[in-house]
Amino acid sequence: MLTDAPPRKANRAGFLESDRFGNLELPKNGHLTGIARSLESAMKEEITADVRHACGELLAELSKFYEVPECGIRVLASRPLRVRETWTSELFGDYSPDTMLIRVWMRTAIRKEVTSFGTFLSTLCHEFCHHLDFHKFRFPDSWHTRGFYERAGALYHCARGTPPKRLFWAPLRGGRWRIDWPRTNRGT
Ligand SMILES: [Zn+2]
Repeated sequence: MLTDAPPRKANRAGFLESDRFGNLELPKNGHLTGIARSLESAMKEEITADVRHACGELLAELSKFYEVPECGIRVLASRPLRVRETWTSELFGDYSPDTMLIRVWMRTAIRKEVTSFGTFLSTLCHEFCHHLDFHKFRFPDSWHTRGFYERAGALYHCARGTPPKRLFWAPLRGGRWRIDWPRTNRGT
């Protein structure tokens, strides 16, 4: 995982604020882990309607907790060929701030293998964090900062019911960072 380069001038303050802000408040009622478990079994059974239903439930629960407008969800079989430019886009999903729509796909583009549950859930949380950036924290843009990845990671572990992982970062040129996986996995 790589962070975006900081913007030169405009929006730099927002970027730095996003970068520093890793401590996302998390729902504690256990609803998320229950929904995540039904998502996991729906994926195992490969029942798309159930996957879509569980994703919708998860996002509704999150939107209620964070008091943001509910975002739409589309679960696709595979990555769309055309990806619109205003969307923030990753390997397994994307998000449009204009339409507040999250799209995730269940199969990898190349080998058409089913995306693993962990990757799928992590993508969903990642896209929802873009939604939070725009509609909760009111950042002018939703950058992939260290803080962003920390917020998305915290949300993922909360939903999955696994202990949160501290992320360790290594600097790159141009003000970017990459995750130091050996240290992150060791935890020191
Ligand atoms: Zn992203």
